[in-house]
Amino acid sequence: MELFKPLGNLESEKKEIKTEGEAERVKVLILGSGPAGYTAAIYSARANLSPVLYEGLQAGGQLTTTTEVENYPGYPEGVSGMGMMEDFKKQAVRFGADVRWGIATSADFSKKPSKVIIDEKKVILADAVIIATGATAQYLGLESEKKYMGFGVSACATCDGFFYKGADVAVVGGGDTACEEALYLSGICNKVYMIVRKPFLRASKIMQERVFNNKKIQVLFEHVTKEIVGDNAVTGVILTNAKGEEVKVDIKGFFVAIGHKPNSDIFPGLEKDQVGYIKTIPGTSKTNIEGVFACGDVQDPVYRQAVTAAGTGCMAAIDAERYLSGKGLVH
Ligand code: NDP
Repeated sequence: MELFKPLGNLESEKKEIKTEGEAERVKVLILGSGPAGYTAAIYSARANLSPVLYEGLQAGGQLTTTTEVENYPGYPEGVSGMGMMEDFKKQAVRFGADVRWGIATSADFSKKPSKVIIDEKKVILADAVIIATGATAQYLGLESEKKYMGFGVSACATCDGFFYKGADVAVVGGGDTACEEALYLSGICNKVYMIVRKPFLRASKIMQERVFNNKKIQVLFEHVTKEIVGDNAVTGVILTNAKGEEVKVDIKGFFVAIGHKPNSDIFPGLEKDQVGYIKTIPGTSKTNIEGVFACGDVQDPVYRQAVTAAGTGCMAAIDAERYLSGKGLVH
């Protein structure tokens, strides 16, 4: 039984673990460590709900692969994505959130408490579950893309751009992510091609302007990637243009920035849209299953911003607290 939980304890590892048979029983289980997960942790820890948060595959979430975050309110000079997520984590731990390394591998929401398996072995029984598992980068699905993964193909310019210093590279995609990746790479590489399948960019106007004003970036509109070619590593890409002609571009790095897929596959029984975004009752974080809440990019096909993710994380913690109070599961 948990007798005492001091606020301000930074050593979350040392907390008492409540078990039930082989399972561990928790009041609030949070899955994911982006802005949504950590905000849910901050709010639920401050509501004395002793949240346990599993960080998931990419600790800190997608922002840790971004360079500079310029649009999060409160940082007039901008902040690094990694630095911001470290601050989120510190704040959650400061109020007593139990932040752990581990990935949710399956879940059963058919009975109460909900059952979630971590790393295929550890069983957690949770009165409330907050899903904040975010989204993952998508790939084109070409065989050659798989073949050269890590040998010239990447979905993260900030992670891998350094390896292509002074080289020619390409970024595929026409959204904000692709523009951001191209701009970042232009600071490292000799030349950056943007491969865009439509005759326009989908990105915000400010990002488009930055791309068009950057002499190192050449946008190839109405070009589709046919194949990535190389020997031991990537040496080029074959594109098809609007006339159906094949064009070969010599590059050493091929960066994929074509959007994301929500990480919702392991959650059964939840209503999702055709892409996999978890559906929530409008204006709330409530899913179709009582006691299961969703926040952040896993349930947001529209805004997908750090600040909206944080906002919905707050909503999820408040919804969870009200649910638990209503059921008499917290005093
Ligand atoms: P988006 O969904 O906005 O854009 C994806 C891009 O990839 C589109 O241009 C799309 O083309 C293209 N694409 C998709 N599939 C393929 C394919 N198979 N082959 C070729 N091209 C393809 O994703 P983003 O990741 O760019 O952005 C997601 C969200 O995050 C957006 O809301 C964005 O505004 C936001 N964001 C904000 C940032 C910021 O504010 N600093 C930074 C990064 C992202 P098409 O247009 O033809 O569909």
